[in-house]
Formats: sequence, structure tokens, C-alpha cells
Amino acid sequence: MTTTESTTAQSFADLGLSASLLKTLSDIGYESPSPIQAECIPILLQGRDLIGQAQTGTGKTAAFALPLMEQIDVKLTKPQALVLTPTRELAIQVAEALQSYAKNLPGFHVLPIYGGQSYTIQLKQLSRGAHIIVGTPGRVMDHLERKTLNLDNLKTLVLDEADEMLRMGFIDDVEWILERTPATHQTALFSATMPEQIRRVAQKYLVEPREIKIKSATSTVEAIRQVYWQVSGMHKLDALTRILEVEKDFDAAIIFVRTKNATVELADKLAARGYAAAALNGDLNQQMRERVIDQLKSGALDIVIATDVAARGIDVPRVSHVVNYDIPYDTEAYVHRIGRTGRAGRTGNAILFVAPREIRMLRTIERATRSPIAPLTLPSRADVTNKRVADFKEKVAEVLNAEGLDFFSNIVSQISEEHDVGVEEVAAALCMLAQESKPLQIAGEDPAPARAYPAASDSRRPAAFGERDRKPREERSERPRFEDRGDKPRFEERSDKPRFEDRGERPRREERPTRSAPTGDMVRYRIDVGRDHGVQVKDIVGAIANEAGIESRFIGRIALYDESSTVELPAGMPKEADNALKRTRVRGVPINLRPDEGRPDGDDRGNFKKRKFGDR
Ligand code: AMP
Repeated sequence: MTTTESTTAQSFADLGLSASLLKTLSDIGYESPSPIQAECIPILLQGRDLIGQAQTGTGKTAAFALPLMEQIDVKLTKPQALVLTPTRELAIQVAEALQSYAKNLPGFHVLPIYGGQSYTIQLKQLSRGAHIIVGTPGRVMDHLERKTLNLDNLKTLVLDEADEMLRMGFIDDVEWILERTPATHQTALFSATMPEQIRRVAQKYLVEPREIKIKSATSTVEAIRQVYWQVSGMHKLDALTRILEVEKDFDAAIIFVRTKNATVELADKLAARGYAAAALNGDLNQQMRERVIDQLKSGALDIVIATDVAARGIDVPRVSHVVNYDIPYDTEAYVHRIGRTGRAGRTGNAILFVAPREIRMLRTIERATRSPIAPLTLPSRADVTNKRVADFKEKVAEVLNAEGLDFFSNIVSQISEEHDVGVEEVAAALCMLAQESKPLQIAGEDPAPARAYPAASDSRRPAAFGERDRKPREERSERPRFEDRGDKPRFEERSDKPRFEDRGERPRREERPTRSAPTGDMVRYRIDVGRDHGVQVKDIVGAIANEAGIESRFIGRIALYDESSTVELPAGMPKEADNALKRTRVRGVPINLRPDEGRPDGDDRGNFKKRKFGDR
């Protein structure tokens, strides 16, 4: 294996992508490749195998998706590429990304297949023909076994988030699939970490792979206060305006986003909310770019929304704040971005927005910059109101000392007399009038506080359930949702995934390690897979969470026996989840879920010892 460590920034045109794909990227608003893209795309275009060590947020999806698009023969309506992902959520995301890159490829079809979705629909879609299949291992395996998925024309196989597949107990399924793919195909493996088992899989199934690892430069960032807000419960735009309003010492800000389209969108939205804001992106010629920077310097603009490339080298001392509205691809970009503030001996402020699935990137940044980034509590409505009232009072106080108030005092007296009300009431009415264009009280609700994540240094940090994709409701795509009430178990399309405590911390008894016991009524079910099938607790959690969309924290105790197991699930499971579970397989064995009626001797409650349990 050859390892490349690089931080190169090139243009997409240098990477060997076709003109049509370049146009699509420009339409989408991508300005330049992220480091992982710059390295991986040329290698994959050559048809070589590849190991990419990259996590979510680095742009890894496009790193493999763009070369895939170049390989597809649209006339051949057979699967030519297969992407395996650990969760249905990721399968859908990857399929959506592929579809967006196929804008100029009429007739292109990508099909996500994952557990929990009806077989009838999937069979219909498969028979219609798709060029790329994106799926979770279990369901792909099922279709291969049923011969409803044929991989004879496969050119490329991608293993996305391989370490997650390992954690979720899918690695055997992945190997099973790898063994049934045609001998000659390209394989790309992406993983945030490289545990030994993943290395072993890579050595066994990849042919002379190039290994790409993006270097994390360590740099120190001093004189900059660094904080992050974990995106939850509120739109980023609303959060941004709340923060900007309440931030102390705010003078001017550069806000970083990923695409040039986003610079324009955000600039328009901020301008509509009364901010002096403008976009700075690669579409601007040198003269226009300089104009924007001059305006920021002079105070004609207070906020510039920029992409990384466009903001390179900006040196404007009055920039008191940098906001990473979209998280950067790597630590180097982060350091460069926040270096736009704290200039000329002033202190700067760097605010980072982190989606739950990007928490890992946050920790990488903290490690690389050797500085902790503190969580920021979003200003409440009351905070914003108090700040507005304080500013308002200050303005009034200034006017109290001004000349020529007599004329206005007279008017107040007249109103007071004409309406037979006190001067205080008149003043209140005038205050109300004065704030009409920008009300002192803001509308909307305060979101519930987000769960704080322990710092990177805390190695005992429970691998948080649902770090991925707990986007605020409004940011999620519309998915079926069966129930949605507070703390009660939610049965929904899977939006997070089970994770497990460190191996060393696994409970001795074969119970499922839960961080907090599920509350509410639980029902115990029996399933027909047990230790004799080579099944582990994590396999059962993974299958149930994926197939029925039950958040893993709501899966209760699991007891493994030789030929069967029991699992506790929340009472009142919707029919869809129940049906999905009836069809679920673990390690290829149908689980045949049904309520547990207990052992014939009535003595199996809470007994987790290895024991024989005959079929009921
Ligand atoms: P990923 O790391 O693949 O999950 O990508 C994270 C986000 O970055 C996605 O929203 C992508 O659309 C976006 N993205 C990926 N590559 C680029 C690029 N070259 N320019 C701008 N945005 C990108």
C-alpha cells in the first residue's frame, strides 16, 4: 500500500473529470475539491483500488461518487456500482448525493435498498433496473441470496464508513458480499479509523490499493476565543442572528459556508433581516472581490459570507468574529478560517456550527489545534430581548441629552391631555412605535438545550447514540414518523445507529449495554437466533435498529441462549415495525420475532446464563 498525505488544493478541472460533470459541480455551487477529493478522484478515475481514511464532513461522498458517475454506462440498465453503508440513513444520503451529481446524465438511476423498506417496492425498483445500488449489508445480502440483485456487471464496489459497519456487526455480511462479487472490479474502502479487522478485509479483498490519509496539521491558535454550537432544535440562520445580536464586542464578521450558492443565499437572507451583508465567492472577479473587502474595511459592510477559496488572505482588522456556518473539511481549513479574526493584536472570536454527525470533526479540530472548543449556549429569547432593551435604553439616554427636545415634550403633553392619559402611557406608546421595524421582543420558541458532548480528551466518552443525523426536525428530509412524543420511544425511519461501549467495558452478562434503561412499558420477545448461530448482542441491536427504525436506546435487555434469544422492545410497536421485524434476518437466519411466552419451566426471567433452550 502506498500512503499519500496531502493538503493540495486544486480545481476540479485538474482532476480529470468530464466537462459535463464539471458543469454539474459548478451548478451545485462547488468551487474547489476538498483535500480528500483532490487525492481520491484521480486514483479512482484510473480504476485503482483505494483506501480513504476520512470521516463525515470531509467531502468523502463526492470523492467516490464523482468517479462513479464517470464510469456509468447509462444505456446498460444493470447495477454497475454498489455502495455499502452501515445505516439506511447514510444509504439514502449517498443515493441523494449521487442523484444530484447526475443532473446532466439523463436516464441515470440510483437505488437505495435498506432494511425496513418493503420488499415488494424494492423488487419492483430492482427489476426496473438501476445503475448504482446503495444499500445496507443485510438487505443487499438478502437480495443476492434471492437472486433479485445481480452483480455480474459490477465495475466498482464502495465500502463507506467501514469501521461503522464493523462496529454494528455487519463485517461478516460485508465479507459475504465481497466474496460474491465478480473477480475483477474496483474497490474503494472509506473509513474514519483503521481498526485491525478493517485492515485485514482491505488486505484480503483490495488489489494494491493506494491509501489516502489527509494530514491533520497541528497548529496553535491563540488570542482567539473558540466556541461551538451544536445544531439542534433551531434553524442555523435563526441561531446565527441570535448569536450575532448578543455577542459582545461584535464589530464585523466573516461567515464561512461550503458552496458559492450558499454564500449568495445567506447574504440575501441576512440582508433581508437588516444586516449589511454581502457574498464573496469565486465567481467574483478581482475588482469585485476587492470592492467587497474594502466595504468590509470601511464599515459599509458588517458581514461577508465567503467560501474558503474566496476568503484566502483577507486581512481586515475589524473582523471581530468568524463563524463556521458549515464545518470545514479539515483542520487546516479551520485554522485558516479563524485566522481571519484576531488580527493586528486584537482578540478574535470563532464560532463553529456543528451538526450532531460532525461531532467527530469537532474533536479532530480540537486535537489538531491543541485547544478545547467550548460549547456555546444559544442566547435565549429573553437574552436577545434584554440586549435589545439595553441598546434601546442607551439610544434613548443619548437623545435625552440632545438639544431641541422641547418641541417633542409639547407633543407628549398634548397627547396626554387629549386622551386623558398619563405621560408614562404616552411614553410607552411611543416606545412601541419606535421599535416597530425591529421589535424588542423576538418571536419563536427557545429550543430545548442540546445534550453536551464530553471533550475529546475524555476517552470514556460513551460513543453517543445518535451523534449522526440528529438534525433539527426542520432540517431533516420528510420521513415517515409513527409517533413523536417527548421521551416516549419513537418508531421512525432510522436516524441514528446503535453504538457500543468499548469492548473492555462490556458487561459480563450478555445484556445489551444500555446507557440508560429504556423507560415505559417493555415487551419481551423471543427470536430464533442465538449463540449457536454465531450471533452477538450487537448483531441483534444492529438488525432491529436498522430494520424497524427503533432508536437503539429504546431496545431493552437482550439475553442470548444457544438456539434463541430474548429481546425487550417498547410496547405498542406500530404494525410497520412489527412486520419489518417479522421479516428480519440476523446473519442470514430469519429471527421469527414473537412475544416471549417464557420457558416451559417458567424460570427464564433475567437468567442470562448459558443454557439450552429448545424450540418452543
Ligand atoms: P460528506 O463529508 O461527504 O458527508 O460531505 C459533507 C458536505 O460537503 C455535503 O453537504 C456535500 O454536499 C458538501 N461538499 C462536498 N464536497 C464539496 C465541495 N467540493 N465543495 C462544496 N461542498 C462540498
